[in-house]
Amino acid sequence: MKSFLSSFLSRLKNNQFKEIQQVAENLKKEISHLSNEKNHLMAIINAVVEGVVITNEKGEIVFINPSFHSLFSLKGNYVGKTMLECLRNKAIHDLVERTIQKEISSEKEIKISVNLEEKYFIVHTVPFINNGRDRGCVTVFYDITRVRALEETRKEFVANVSHELKTPLTNIKGYAETLRGGALNDSSVALQFVRKIEKNALELQSLVEDIIQLSRIESGNFEIAPRVVDLSEVVKSIHDDFFDRLKTKNITFQNFIKAQYLLRVDQKALKQVLSNLVDNAIKYTPQEGIISISAEKENKYCRVSVTDTGSGIPEKDIPRVFERFYQVDKPNAKKLGGSGLGLAIVKHLIQTHGGEVGVKNNPSGGTQFSFTLPIA
Ligand code: ADP
Repeated sequence: MKSFLSSFLSRLKNNQFKEIQQVAENLKKEISHLSNEKNHLMAIINAVVEGVVITNEKGEIVFINPSFHSLFSLKGNYVGKTMLECLRNKAIHDLVERTIQKEISSEKEIKISVNLEEKYFIVHTVPFINNGRDRGCVTVFYDITRVRALEETRKEFVANVSHELKTPLTNIKGYAETLRGGALNDSSVALQFVRKIEKNALELQSLVEDIIQLSRIESGNFEIAPRVVDLSEVVKSIHDDFFDRLKTKNITFQNFIKAQYLLRVDQKALKQVLSNLVDNAIKYTPQEGIISISAEKENKYCRVSVTDTGSGIPEKDIPRVFERFYQVDKPNAKKLGGSGLGLAIVKHLIQTHGGEVGVKNNPSGGTQFSFTLPIA
């Protein structure tokens, strides 16, 4: 073979030899270009967050990108297996089969359970034919679980808001109708109904204010302006604000933060947090009770606790009290003028400062709410 090649080359004229050399050179460049292109393509497919799977004509997997592995928590090698063996999901298997057989693209939203967690995907399949021989399907998985969860939260929020607004509005309408129907001329009941209308309107106002504030914080449009704030001063002003209500119920207010305690926080936000917690403590603590406020250092943070000797919270409800609109005893909370948003606002304001909230029942009765904020 070697001697044939050398005799063949020696018989070639000089210019023919050069031509062959040129063709070889071009081929080398072409191969290097193709190999570069392939490497770029693989780098893209391996980097995308979407899961990508390529199956051949028989429905066997020939390629899987790393995102597909992590999206479905897959371990091991699935090359050579079918989609059904890989994901155990008939809908996806059918989608791939149909794409290969009918050679048409398709798209479907599919719910799959991954490690006991429900995940939502847009599954997009595209057929491919290579030189009329090599056939198969490219399947792309877009994880839309977070989008679905956000949609659910939004729907729940709208449903809750509508429900909460409905009661005071229905009451106002009812009292106004009764007044118009004759009660207006009966001065003994007229004033009573007007007061009820006023009370419901105030409830509506505070509910709408809470909703606006919570939406502002949650949408990220809420800017905090941290500066050095003395916690003891804020607690003093809270005591002044609630003085009359504390007196009416004969509740003792113990302020354990006597000396200056400097935090780096948004003063308005800190006041709102303490105000919501003390307001709750007063609402859920009977006459002659005690409410105390204390603080202790936790690394670079300070943990502030608001403790009361009130009703306490059933253990099963403890993990849920910071949820929007969650109220342990709804009718009673409504009677006390609660919107069910106070603690959700507290949680968001504290988290915006990088802190955390906590709640526990006291062994001796009552509840202890706490939060952490950065020390100045
Ligand atoms: P509300 O406006 O109803 O007080 P919050 O979000 O402030 O709403 O509180 C949620 C629920 O947590 C309340 O309805 C109540 O059931 C419970 N709760 C909050 N603070 C206390 C407390 N100090 N003692 C007992 N229960 C409380």
